[in-house]
Amino acid sequence: MKNKILVTGGAGYIGSHTCIALHEAGYDIVVYDNLSNSSREAVRRVSTLIGQSIEFIEGDIRDAELLKQVFTEHQIFGVMHFAGLKAVGESVAKPLLYYNNNVSGTITLLEVMAAANVKNLVFSSSATVYGDPDVLPIDESAKRSCTNPYGQSKLMVEHMLQDLAATDEGWNLIALRYFNPVGAHPSGQIGEDPNDIPNNLMPYISQVAVGKLKKLSIFGNDYATVDGTGVRDFIHVTDLAQGHVAALNYLEQQKGLTKDCSDKESANKNSTIGFLPINLGTGKGTSVLELVTAFSEVSGQDIPYQFSARRAGDIASCYASADKAKDLLNWEAKLSITEMCQDTWRWQSKNPRGYHSA
Ligand code: NAD
Ligand code: UDP
Repeated sequence: MKNKILVTGGAGYIGSHTCIALHEAGYDIVVYDNLSNSSREAVRRVSTLIGQSIEFIEGDIRDAELLKQVFTEHQIFGVMHFAGLKAVGESVAKPLLYYNNNVSGTITLLEVMAAANVKNLVFSSSATVYGDPDVLPIDESAKRSCTNPYGQSKLMVEHMLQDLAATDEGWNLIALRYFNPVGAHPSGQIGEDPNDIPNNLMPYISQVAVGKLKKLSIFGNDYATVDGTGVRDFIHVTDLAQGHVAALNYLEQQKGLTKDCSDKESANKNSTIGFLPINLGTGKGTSVLELVTAFSEVSGQDIPYQFSARRAGDIASCYASADKAKDLLNWEAKLSITEMCQDTWRWQSKNPRGYHSA
C-alpha cells in the first residue's frame, strides 16, 4: 500500500501543484480545504491532470470533529499543511482572523494528529519569518522576526512545532520556508488565482499583460539594489512542489521507511528529525524591473508601469541560501525566470478570469 498524505489547503495555489507532484511520486492523497481562497474547479482540474478523481473533503482545519473523522476513515501517514490565510495587508486589518485561522487552526490539526498518533508533518512556512535580514543569502540559522500578523502567525507555528518536537521525539516536523513562489503548471490548467486585485508582483504583472489591469505600480526605485527596485528569490511553483516530495522522501528515509510502509507504530519509531526548518528558494535574486522585462519579452505584451512610493514593511533584498535543501533533501530548483514567466503567461492567457474562466 502506498503512503497516504492528507493535504490541507490542497485546493489552493501551491497545494494543488503539490498534489500532482505527490501523485506522480506514488503517494495517495486526500485533500482537505474549506475553499475560503480556492475553488472546486481547481480540484477538478487536478483530477483531470492526474487522470483520476481526487479524494476531496470540504472542511475547516478548526473543525476538530471533522478532522478526527478523516483520521479515522483514512490511514494517514503524514500531513502536508498548506491551509492558511496569506494576505499581509488583510492580516494587519484583521489580526484575530489570521491568528484564529493560521495558529488556532494548526493547534487543532496538531491535537487531532497527536490523538491519531500521526506525527509526520510538512508545514508551509515562509521567508517572511526572517524579517529584514542582516546577511544575504539568508540561511536557516538567521534570526527570525516579523512585523505583521501574517508573518507572526507563521513564526508562532514554527515556535509551536519546535516546542512540540522538544517534548516528544516521535514528531517529525519539517517547516519549509518558501521564498517567492510564482509560475504555474506547464499545462496551463492550474495556477494562481487571486480573489481580488493581486497583492503580489507576478500575478499583478500577468493581469496587466492580459489587459485586466492597466498599469503596474513599482513600489520604490531607490533601494540599494542593481536597479533600485526590490530584489526577491522567485521560485517556480512546480520546483516548490518537488521540494515537498523531497522533504517527504527525506522524512521516510531518516526513519528507515519506504513509501510502501504504512504501519503507524514503526512509522513513529527511530525518529531523528524533530523540528527541521528548510529554505525553498533558488538562491538567486531578481529585481522587480528584471522580472517585468522578462515577462514582457516572453509574453510579447507591453507591461506599462510607473514608479511609486515604497510599500510599507517591504525590504530591499531577500534571497535564500539553498544549500541545506540541497545537502539534506537532495533537491534544488531547476527552472529559470524565463520558464516562470512562460508558465504564468500560459495559465493567465488561457484563463484570463482564473478558474472563473471555465
Ligand atoms: P492559497 O490561498 O492559494 O492556498 C491556501 C488554501 O488553504 C486555500 O485553498 C484555502 O481555501 C485553504 N484554507 C485556508 N484556511 C483554511 C482553513 N481554516 N481550513 C481549511 N482550508 C483552509 O495559498 P498558497 O499560495 O497556495 O499558500 C499555501 C501556504 O503557503 C499558505 O499557508 C501560505 O501562507 C504559505 N506561503 C505562501 C506563499 C506565497 O507567496 N504563495 C509564500 C510563503 C508561504
Ligand atoms: N511589488 C511591486 N508592485 C506590486 C507588487 C509588488 O513593485 O504591485 C514589489 C514589492 O515591493 C517587492 C516585490 O515586488 O519588492 C515582491 O513583492 P511580493 O508582494 O510579490 O512578495 P513579497 O513582498 O512577499 O516578497
